[in-house]
Amino acid sequence: MTNPAADDTDTNWRRSRREIEADIFQAGLAAGLGESRNLPLDTHLHTILSPDTEPDALLDAYCAVAIERGIAELAITDHVDFDPLDQAYSFSTFEERERSVREAAERWAPHGLAVRFGAEITYQRAYEDDIRDWLRKHPHDFVIGSVHSGPTSLFEPDRVAAYVAGKSLADATAPYFEEVTASARSGLFDSIGHMDVVKRWLVPHFMPADFAAEPELYEPVLRAMVESGTAVEINASGLRQLPRETYPNAAVVARYLEMGGRAVTIGSDAHRMGWFAYGLAEAYRLAQGAGIEALTFRRGGDRVWVPLAPGRSQT
Ligand SMILES: [Zn+2]
Ligand SMILES: [Zn+2]
Repeated sequence: MTNPAADDTDTNWRRSRREIEADIFQAGLAAGLGESRNLPLDTHLHTILSPDTEPDALLDAYCAVAIERGIAELAITDHVDFDPLDQAYSFSTFEERERSVREAAERWAPHGLAVRFGAEITYQRAYEDDIRDWLRKHPHDFVIGSVHSGPTSLFEPDRVAAYVAGKSLADATAPYFEEVTASARSGLFDSIGHMDVVKRWLVPHFMPADFAAEPELYEPVLRAMVESGTAVEINASGLRQLPRETYPNAAVVARYLEMGGRAVTIGSDAHRMGWFAYGLAEAYRLAQGAGIEALTFRRGGDRVWVPLAPGRSQT
């Protein structure tokens, strides 16, 4: 029998991925993943100034819910792309993004909510010098570097099956992990976003259990993060996507700490209102379970540490 996914037409697989993930999201809601409350920080959020959001991804709506739920501080990290083929290239300007966030910060500060100006930059080695120059001229409070699957990527739904055919997991993931390793080594970013989102792109050809069975695949990227001091982001979006686990999972976070890594952030990576803080409490539980006491963050100056448990003083 042939693998059912392999003879799906590509369009079908793209659509079915969306449908499957909608079901995963609903199941997570039923299991309480939508109920994150009383948490100090969400470091990864997109608004309508990112091209891949829904119209209800409004900054003020996030802020109102954050207050209602007791989430004390948000970093707004809309997409910044350097490759003209990528969706966010010239979608919104630095000035628009900064104005939107700084004005919201002023509006919401009296209500006890801190809103920080961040960005999620798509890292590609080919654009590293451009990103460095641009970041020098365009300061943010907090900057995430992420490797994404652009229109020409091998991991796009319409070509991934052909790409993985006959490849080992190590071979299939090598181009992705090499790029993530370079993003950490660049030293440009406070954290690396969803460091193993390739887990999502490779379903159903390789499953999260296949990744778990080959922890050595993560060693070079974790070493780069430890040596550069770049934070690992525990990204909760994987809980509503095909992997059904955070990017990365608890075992990878544990290995990072064992290797001497100390810097960890947590973000929900919402692109619509319903995804705001989704799975965030679960990501905090993971961090707590790993023995992490404070998250790494930046508010424009030096790195700061934000205690996991709310109400403690921040240093
Ligand atoms: Zn991303
Ligand atoms: Zn994102």
